Amino acid sequence: MSDNGFSDSFSAPLQASAEEPQFTDQTINCMDCHSDFVWTVGEQQFFHDKNLQNPPKRCKPCKQAKNERIAAINAAHELGVKQRIEVLVACAKCGCNTTVPFYPSQGRPVYCRSCYLELNPSLLPPHE
Ligand SMILES: [Zn+2]
Ligand SMILES: [Zn+2]
Repeated sequence: MSDNGFSDSFSAPLQASAEEPQFTDQTINCMDCHSDFVWTVGEQQFFHDKNLQNPPKRCKPCKQAKNERIAAINAAHELGVKQRIEVLVACAKCGCNTTVPFYPSQGRPVYCRSCYLELNPSLLPPHE
């Protein structure tokens, strides 16, 4: 009866106590795609172990899609913050206005891109 091939690797004894609810597979309707998915006993046990009170609201594909959406938003957010650092300065060589992706420190000359490359020819990409 208890030999389901699942508990072999666990040495913890199976105890039936009032605090351990009996889990059965549950069918939940996904709030995103509105299709039924099975909340398995194993997942319920996981939720129980983690002290999570609320059952999942989304099926696995929708949950993953949601996580990916959040990750994409976070990535775009980080990228946007970095790109927004743009300081308008006057080139110390030719005097033209240019933007740099950093805050120039006081007294340090800042050059526009072409002047900078002129002064640092080693940074030029090799000609093909
Ligand atoms: Zn879904
Ligand atoms: Zn310049």
